[in-house]
Amino acid sequence: MIRLQAITKSFAPKRGAPPVLHGIDLSVGKGEIFGIIGASGAGKSTLVRLINLLERPTSGEVFIDDQRITDAKGAELHELRRSIGMVFQHFNLLSGRTVAGNVAWPLELAGRLTRAEIAAKVTALLARVGLADHAQKYPRQLSGGQKQRVGIARALANDPKVLLCDEATSALDPQTTGQVLDLLQEINLELGVTIVMITHEMDVIRRACDRVAVLEKGRVVEEGPVAAVFLHPSHPVTRALVREAE
Ligand code: ATP
Ligand code: MG
Repeated sequence: MIRLQAITKSFAPKRGAPPVLHGIDLSVGKGEIFGIIGASGAGKSTLVRLINLLERPTSGEVFIDDQRITDAKGAELHELRRSIGMVFQHFNLLSGRTVAGNVAWPLELAGRLTRAEIAAKVTALLARVGLADHAQKYPRQLSGGQKQRVGIARALANDPKVLLCDEATSALDPQTTGQVLDLLQEINLELGVTIVMITHEMDVIRRACDRVAVLEKGRVVEEGPVAAVFLHPSHPVTRALVREAE
């Protein structure tokens, strides 16, 4: 589904800035929930932003469904971005738009549906994330967990095959985190959406992910099924993360 091959990323290679990602090889299978964990500055956000080409690799290749997309531009890039939804730590909602207006936004941008079709789709999306009764509220009237549900509904608007979640639960308390992870798992199962989930909390990985990669200073230092990594962490960074989660 997603394949990163020998990815290196430096933000200013011509000025000799050191790479923030070094030779990353990663594959995420269709329908997986794949976790990426690491300390602040490890390169997690940069790595995930390469998947929808919000960042371009300095070297290496990005494949989606076996199609090389590394240099995608124009219509191909638009199509790619539409097929990959993104969920953010701080929700990034439009404060001047209602809940329904936020979810409608990507559909309006795509310009493929009539107003009536958009309204029907928004209603269905809000029902899916449990916000049917909040459509006309503004983001400031919602709790953190509700805001993230709006963010998830918005990310699903264009029927993406992949959902990228960058610290989607890091601003939430443990109980709300659990509810949002349950929702993401439900979406993964019922819609078959592949999810890449970035976090700095091993607990989030344990609750929600099938496989995990541990990122340390721009390198993948450990990767495998979550249960195996928890039982037999091989790298000191992973061991420390597992201990923290106990
Ligand atoms: P956090 O957990 O704090 O979000 P992260 O693992 O997501 O951290 P990144 O945001 O990917 O880390 O950053 C990795 C490194 O790349 C950091 O050293 C950061 O300063 C650098 N970096 C990120 N974006 C840019 C940019 N646009 N220009 C220059 N350097 C950047
Ligand atoms: Mg980050």
